[in-house]
Amino acid sequence: MTTGDLRDTFGRVATDLRVSLTDRCNLRCSYCMPAEGLDWLPTDDVLTDDEVVRLIRIAVEMLGVREVRFTGGEPLLRRGLADIVRRTTQLRPRPETSITTNALGLSRTARTLAEAGLDRVNVSLDTVRRDVFHTITRRDRLDDVIAGLEAAREAGLGPVKVNAVLLRGVNDDQAPELLRWCMEREYQLRFIEQMPLDAQHGWSRAAMVTAEEIFESLRTEFLLEPAEEPRGSAPAELFAVDGGPHTVGVIASVTRPFCGDCDRVRLTADGQVRNCLFAREESDLRGALRSGADDAEIARRWQAAMLTKRPGHGIDDTSFLQPTRPMSAIGG
Ligand code: SAM
Repeated sequence: MTTGDLRDTFGRVATDLRVSLTDRCNLRCSYCMPAEGLDWLPTDDVLTDDEVVRLIRIAVEMLGVREVRFTGGEPLLRRGLADIVRRTTQLRPRPETSITTNALGLSRTARTLAEAGLDRVNVSLDTVRRDVFHTITRRDRLDDVIAGLEAAREAGLGPVKVNAVLLRGVNDDQAPELLRWCMEREYQLRFIEQMPLDAQHGWSRAAMVTAEEIFESLRTEFLLEPAEEPRGSAPAELFAVDGGPHTVGVIASVTRPFCGDCDRVRLTADGQVRNCLFAREESDLRGALRSGADDAEIARRWQAAMLTKRPGHGIDDTSFLQPTRPMSAIGG
């Protein structure tokens, strides 16, 4: 039933859809949200399960999307998650499905999600020290994350990936320790450079821990060599650790942007298409859905939304402006 693809004016085609299912979260990571949380989206603004699944169906059946990643906020807080996953994996061609999660509660839901058809999980974990975890997330929940990771592996939601952000003076001395911990458990670790997407606008280029510093720190304990597998449009640069087979990834969104190979598009929990994490405009699909637009009209609007995608995020330009929505409301 294909009507076309999600192509921008630079020839990039989006096939990887990130769907935010809620802007709420049960952690308060200091680089993401203030301690008191944020003004959450009004319930009526959030797409219903049927609306989310309809948009995913249009993306998969009519617009060439091949991968769907559920995120948030915290996607495990969405009551209908397993049902949304099940309905997504029943689409044809069947898209690959994954979630990006903090893993709180995953120990209870991993099996149900796997049975619903979920392929993989990416778990966010910035430290394996209890006190530092508490400092970063403002919650004492490290044990729950570790239990969630184990449950994901046991449920076959692998390869289980771990995403970590390093913060200067907080956990930037812990990269080798985190890598060793992940390798011992067969989790694939990727470090992500901190981006200017926090609600508090506290990010600073001078303070962020760069990919170069991450390599330097890892090389104090490990030998890193570029991994053989081709990077394609994957954001992570992969390195074999001590000759392999373990690898570590570094997502250098700020210092080594990969916008030229971007194949992603995002849908917020309130039904807005964003063609880039750093886009300053959004296209409203919820309004179209709720005013009775048919699938072809929604597909046309989605394609039109891609035409304003810029060649790059421009974080390093003097004219860079942080988007109004924080990461938690866009979907990381
Ligand atoms: N709650 C889920 C989780 O923890 O994975 C999904 C949403 S969270 C916003 C997705 C990812 O974005 C997490 O790995 C988090 O560490 C990362 N993140 C949040 N703010 C960030 C920032 N300013 N720069 C880089 N990564 C960030």
